[in-house]
Amino acid sequence: MEELRFCPACGGDLLRRRPEGDEHERLVCTACGRIHYQNPVLVVGSVCLHEGRVLLCRRAIAPQKGLWTIPAGFLELGESPEEGAVREAFEEARARIRIDGLLAVYSVRRIGQIQLIYRARLAAPEIAAGPESLEVALFDWRRIPWDALAFPTVHWALRRVMALGEGDGPLVPEANPGGRDPEPLPPARGADA
Ligand SMILES: [Zn+2]
Repeated sequence: MEELRFCPACGGDLLRRRPEGDEHERLVCTACGRIHYQNPVLVVGSVCLHEGRVLLCRRAIAPQKGLWTIPAGFLELGESPEEGAVREAFEEARARIRIDGLLAVYSVRRIGQIQLIYRARLAAPEIAAGPESLEVALFDWRRIPWDALAFPTVHWALRRVMALGEGDGPLVPEANPGGRDPEPLPPARGADA
């Protein structure tokens, strides 16, 4: 992860040190003394189902441009995670969705992300590529482009829905399979990142 070098408040140099009474090293401004806490960010997304098919978006932007993903993105201030997932589905696929429930909570420490992935249904069949997508499509489960998925957690989320089936039974959210962080993307595919 990229680390801040200058104080966002005053432009002073930042140093890593442990403030008095704190258990952790923090970025502290040498000029104004402000402490800049850095914490994981929340990504929200959804596996959206419609008549036995699943909605995927082909990315128009880095990282992983040209590869397929589920609608997902950073939670905005003032949003609930569910509202964020609904917004992302509209922004990336012009899809109106209804959230079913929480499918998974994935942790990607390498990039400081916690991902909340929901299972959802299309409230209307119309979809279209938003500005961050080259194209969007509903894929039959037998035709998922497994070798052209953008991120490991997209694999995980799709496999989780396949394992659960599309039924209306209660969802039990899963954590990282095996408790491991996802492997970094191989260089050839990560070149775009
Ligand atoms: Zn400062």
